[in-house]
Parts: sequence; structure tokens; C-alpha cells
Amino acid sequence: MPFSSLGLRPELLKALKPKDYPAPTPIQTQAIPAVLKGVDVQASAQTGSGKTAAYALPVLELLLRQPRSAPRSVHSLVLVPTRELAVQVGETLRSLVTQLPSNLKITVVFGGVSINPQMMGLRGGADVIVATPGRLLDLLDKNALSLSQVQILVLDEADKLLDLGFQDELQAILKHLPSRRQNLLFSATFASAVQSLADALLTDPVRLDVLPQPGSAPDIVQRAIAVDAPQRTQLLRHLFQTHSWKRVLVFAATQHACQIIAAKLRKAGINAEPFHGQLSQGKRSQVLADFKASRVKVVIATDVASRGLDISELPVVVNFDLPRSAVDYTHRIGRTGRAGHSGLAVSFVGPETEAHWRLIEKRQAISVPREILVGFEPTSQAGAAPDAPHPQGTANDPTGGVKGLRPNKKDKLRQAQQKAKTL
Ligand code: AMP
Repeated sequence: MPFSSLGLRPELLKALKPKDYPAPTPIQTQAIPAVLKGVDVQASAQTGSGKTAAYALPVLELLLRQPRSAPRSVHSLVLVPTRELAVQVGETLRSLVTQLPSNLKITVVFGGVSINPQMMGLRGGADVIVATPGRLLDLLDKNALSLSQVQILVLDEADKLLDLGFQDELQAILKHLPSRRQNLLFSATFASAVQSLADALLTDPVRLDVLPQPGSAPDIVQRAIAVDAPQRTQLLRHLFQTHSWKRVLVFAATQHACQIIAAKLRKAGINAEPFHGQLSQGKRSQVLADFKASRVKVVIATDVASRGLDISELPVVVNFDLPRSAVDYTHRIGRTGRAGHSGLAVSFVGPETEAHWRLIEKRQAISVPREILVGFEPTSQAGAAPDAPHPQGTANDPTGGVKGLRPNKKDKLRQAQQKAKTL
């Protein structure tokens, strides 16, 4: 089905360059006509499947159907959980309106940067606002904008915004919105814990659950490597070098861990940068821009980078620390294998995280064989599932065919002890 059959005006279709948008993705095919009907929509579709355009296009179409008012009033509000996602969604929306004869104004606001330019930017109003919740509330406090005329509210990464961490801010924002409006909730996941909140927000919604179709599912190879915690940085370095990975997004549990791992990799000559909420926004933007342009090869991030970020053709994601939940796992690994590309997700599993990994496997309905790499064998075999296949290496080929894998001093010592025991 071509874009032209979805009810969008020719001016909007012109913005869809065939190179970038050859044909609608399944979520776009289903969501665009639903949103155009003016009803509430709750849509879940896999990561990297074109959700932004799935709501951005019909929102713009509905906006263009309205008579223009002066001064402008905010027609649509798009809420996102992270600053980087705000920038990204703003870029997508702007790319769709540049060719339009009507001069639509898309304004993006997020925290971590001076509020004054954003207040100036809101003078004269805006047609669409893309915002992170905290900064939007600051601007509302300062009367920098009014949301009283909003007709469409979009929650991008909706389950995150409905989650505890954003609940108070979201409720405060809802008080500024008219009660009659169209609500659009988009995410790759909707944990059952947030569904009642979603239900409270929606009126007679159309629910779209776009299951991956054969051939359209993200092509992400998932691997789990059993390794002791202290060996992980060395293993990461080893994998990066032996597999000639061009770029890797590594997830760690804490900001401190991100700093330490990045410092260790840099010491080993690998161009690595941390990415987390303690960094200045300037630094965050710089790291992301450098990573996208391949000037930085490895980024070690907290979950602040797990939602929505579209890093074109990112080949590998590594879970240095396992995510807290199966939902977070979906979002983390969804940074790779986007827009029809293939990807690789590697998780490090230690004896102490094995039970947690099994839970993630269960929730994800996957079973990933634990690999044990020669030179990185966990001291306790609890890291390997009882039915795990044999370590990659064999008696004849201790490297498991992986170039560069040789027993280290510790291995040789262990082998000698083993031999002495059996004699
Ligand atoms: P999103 O899920 O919105 O973050 O989009 C993921 C990636 O898919 C982005 O790089 C988009 O530019 C790309 N994309 C969106 N729509 C299409 C489409 N119809 N065909 C091909 N790629 C698309």
C-alpha cells in the first residue's frame, strides 16, 4: 500500500523522499488512517519500525485541515521522556514541514539548557510543541505558553511517561490541557502496570498491536556470554578488537560505571565516551553527534539512551550490566536492527546475574545459549546454563575459531592445576 492511499495531502507526501520513506511500514499503514479519524489511539509496534512518522504525518495532516489562527495556538503536544528524543522527534517533524506552503512552527523544549532562548522561541506561539515533561512545566510556570487549545496529545514512549518516574509531572501537565482532545499513545512496550493509567487517559481508543511480520521483524542476533564481573571490561575490549566492531553502544547500570568503563577503554586506545544524566547537556549532545558520525566508536550509557534513539545503522549493543527488566531489554537492544537493518545484541551474564537473565529470557520468550569464551571462563560455572552448549573452544581448537583468543596466564595455571589433579 503506498503512502498516497493513506489520506495524506500531496504537500505532505512530497516531503517523503522515496529514499527515506519508500513505502509505509506496517505501523504507519495502520496508525495513519486511525489517527486521521480523530479517535484516541494506543499503538505498540517494534522498536525502529517508524513510529515517529506514524503519528507525525497524521498529526500534521490534521493540523493543516484547521483554519490558521493568529496568533498561533499550540495544536499538538508531543511528550517524550528524554532530551535527545525531543531533538530527534523535532527533527523528524521539521523535515516533514519544510516543503509545506503554510509556515508551520515546530518548537522543541527540553531541560539541561538555558530556559531563556526557549522562552524567546515560544513568543508568537507554536503549532506543535515537542517537550520533555520537566522543562514544559517550568515554561508553563513562567507563562511562556498556553496549552489550552491543544487538540492532540502524543505520548511517545508512552509507557515510560506513564511510569512512576513521570507520573506527577504528567498529571500536572494534563491539568493544563483541555479535557476534550485526541490522545495518541505510542511505544514498543506497554507493561501491564501502566495499562490502567493508559486506560484512564484514553476514550474509546483504537488499539493497534502491530506484530512483527515475517521479514519485517528486527533482525537482531542475540548472544549471551558468561563472564565474571571483573573480567567484563577486558572482554568488551577483546570483542571490540577481535570482531572489528565499528561502533558499539554499551549499557551499564550506573553513571559511575559508565565513567569507569569509558576511562578503561580509552586507556586501551579505544575511542570511548560515557553518556548519562550527570553530564552537561552540551557534552551529551556532543557525544551523541560524535557517535552518530562515527568519531566516537564506543558509547557507554545508562538507560537514558535506551528509549527511542535512532542511531543510523548501529551494528552492536552490549549489555555490560543487564537491564532491570525485560521491557528495558527490548528498548536497549532496539537501538540496533532498526529500519530494516540487522544488528547484534550481546549480554554479559555472570554467576550472580544468571537468575535475572533467565527471568529476562522467560519474559522475552527467548532462550539464548550461554557462550563461554576461552580466556574469559567464569570461575563459577553457575554462569552457564546446565544445558548450555559447550564453550566455543574445543580440545583441538581452544580459541573456538575466534581469532586472537589464547589462554592467558590464569588459564594456563588453572589447566596445570587441573592436570595435576587428574594425574
Ligand atoms: P522510528 O521508529 O520512528 O524511530 O524510526 C526508525 C527509523 O525508520 C528511522 O531511521 C526512520 O527514518 C526510518 N523510517 C521511518 N519510516 C520509514 C519508512 N516508511 N520506510 C523506511 N524507513 C522508515
